[in-house]
Amino acid sequence: MEQPNVKGLLILSFTAACALLAFYLSVIKNVTVVYPHLFYIPLMLAGVWYRKKAIYIALFLSAVYILVTYPLWVLDPDLSVSVLERSAILIVVAYIIGFVSEKRAQVEAELKETKDYLDDVITSSADAIVVVDMAGIVQSWNKAAEDYMGYTAAEVIGTHNKKFFADPEEAERIMAIVLREGELKNHRTVVLTKDNKPVYINMSAALLKDKKGVPVGTVRVSRDITKEVELEEKIKERRNNLNLILESMPDGVYIVSKDYDVEFMNKVLIDEFGDQVGGVCYKVFHNREAPCPRCKNTEVLTGETVRWEWHSRRKNKTYDLVETPLKNINGTLSKLTIFRDISERKRMEEELNEAKEQYMAIFEHTLTALCVIEQDKTISLANKEFESMSGYSREELAGKNWTDFIEAGDSERVRNYCDERRKGGAEACCLFTLVSRDGALKYVNAMIEPVPGENRCIASLLDITELKKNEEKLRETIEKLAELDKMKLEFLNVASHEMRSPLSPIIGYASLLEPKLTGRERGYIRRIEKCARELEEMINRMLELARIDGRKVELNLEEFSLSEVVRKVIKNLEPEAKAKSQTISSVTPELKIQADKQKTAAIFTNLISNAIRYTGEGGRIDVMVEDRGEDIYACVADTGIGIPEEHLPKIFERFYMVDTSLTRKSGSLGLGLSIVKEYVKLHGGRVWATSDLGKWSKFSFTMPKGQLTNGGE
Ligand code: ADP
Repeated sequence: MEQPNVKGLLILSFTAACALLAFYLSVIKNVTVVYPHLFYIPLMLAGVWYRKKAIYIALFLSAVYILVTYPLWVLDPDLSVSVLERSAILIVVAYIIGFVSEKRAQVEAELKETKDYLDDVITSSADAIVVVDMAGIVQSWNKAAEDYMGYTAAEVIGTHNKKFFADPEEAERIMAIVLREGELKNHRTVVLTKDNKPVYINMSAALLKDKKGVPVGTVRVSRDITKEVELEEKIKERRNNLNLILESMPDGVYIVSKDYDVEFMNKVLIDEFGDQVGGVCYKVFHNREAPCPRCKNTEVLTGETVRWEWHSRRKNKTYDLVETPLKNINGTLSKLTIFRDISERKRMEEELNEAKEQYMAIFEHTLTALCVIEQDKTISLANKEFESMSGYSREELAGKNWTDFIEAGDSERVRNYCDERRKGGAEACCLFTLVSRDGALKYVNAMIEPVPGENRCIASLLDITELKKNEEKLRETIEKLAELDKMKLEFLNVASHEMRSPLSPIIGYASLLEPKLTGRERGYIRRIEKCARELEEMINRMLELARIDGRKVELNLEEFSLSEVVRKVIKNLEPEAKAKSQTISSVTPELKIQADKQKTAAIFTNLISNAIRYTGEGGRIDVMVEDRGEDIYACVADTGIGIPEEHLPKIFERFYMVDTSLTRKSGSLGLGLSIVKEYVKLHGGRVWATSDLGKWSKFSFTMPKGQLTNGGE
């Protein structure tokens, strides 16, 4: 540190010495010329150290010079001129030196200020600023460098910089780049702290040159970016995880940059469109030269999530696209798109719409009045037929309560029916009277069906007003018919009795006459008797059927031997069979049943006599009875004319006959099988026939062995 007082003393000493010397030489020795030159020594020193203040020294010394030489001025008149001259020069010189020194001091002060400022900047910089010379030796090391490297400036200045890098060759590489390029920008590298801890830094460097432009070193500005790098790693990891998720998604996924570059495609999409990563999306997917008009990049890259449908003509598939912005590591946005193949859904939707249209068309054009009834009983939908039935237009019907159309008398019943129907009870149909707009009453048959899974019902209404009128007529007709039927039965009863009455004396007298007659007359009387008996049989049958119809026939149950009954019947009919050279054989186990003996015998008689009648000369008739546990099974088979197949279902009907010469000849009425059927039915059994036309016929029936109740039905 300079001591200003020393300088001052020195100047004052020189000044005093000069003044004393001048006094000595002029006053004591009378020398007048030499000493002013010595005055320049304190003058120079003052000029350098005290700048303009040197003028005071010059003034003082000039005054001393003039004073000490003044006595001599009388001796030498030229001396005054020379003294004044030299004094003036002295003052001028002092002024110049002072001025120059002042200027230089100002420049130096400015320089110092700049230097201090730079030092402050370097010291207070958050970035590490390090100066390394051409040999790689550290020349400067600021506070920020100290902070994150752990080394103080004193520890590192003068040492080689390569020890700071995780890779020792990095120091040379950086130097080479800066020498070659003149600078290094945003270079990322790893340095090691004093504790040997790796720190990621971002370094920029510039070449430092001397005044002549010769490189003398490099100045390096670096920043600890460990946190940023860790963050980046995390983002990278997340992105990798995201990619893993995207890979395993069942939907197609791709990511495109803001420049439409395909950055990522998952497997689903690669399988669909091939690997297009690295391509431009509008080229690879749409074969275009510019972005597609429907592209959503702009919206998505401003942060919006967009959903839209895209149909790929190439694949003939429809995709539901969800596009959303995705933040990249460097802060930019890309677009993430999820492709969901909805072709199947679309197809189903179309089919559904088609079906819906079809159903609507059916709903609309059906001749039944249809309407949809909501839970609050309002009508939400109605078809044309409902419009014409109710007399209201669809617009007028909307929101109307459907019970408004029900006649007051039916209202509660229909309401109960609807409630029951909703609960799944009640019958499908409900009859009620509908009041249409013009007050006309219509009888309707309504079917209310709850719509499965919904709180509404669909009602279909059929106008049965005409039907109802016809029903009335029909009922009247039926009543009349029943009356007539009753009359018919009564008539039949009376008529049969009346018809039977004259037959008894005819048959009686004929049988009395027969032994008394001979020859032809005897033959005539036999025929009379035979015809009368046939007529009696026919009347009996008609009477029996009339009784059945009038429900006047009851079973007279008893236990008896079925085999015995069958045997007796065959025995009675055998003469008829023999007359046609037919054989009757029977297989009948000893079997007791509980049934109406007389009617059981009548069943077998009818079937066997039919078999005899419709079988030619020398034919065969087989009767068989089988014990089948709770039932008996019996059949009568013959080798007769058979029955055409189309007649089989009808031969048990009354008066039904197959028109053959035999039937015509036999004069039958077609009542025998009807009686068989009724008797079997009364016993709770079943009868049926099978046949092969021209070859055989077989009549079978079953009957319970034990009759617990009276009658089958
Ligand atoms: P019918 O008194 O006329 O015989 P049925 O009711 O007993 O009346 O029989 C109805 C019809 O069934 C007969 O007209 C006949 O054509 C046919 N038929 C009944 N039994 C036989 C049979 N065993 N073979 C062929 N046809 C038969």
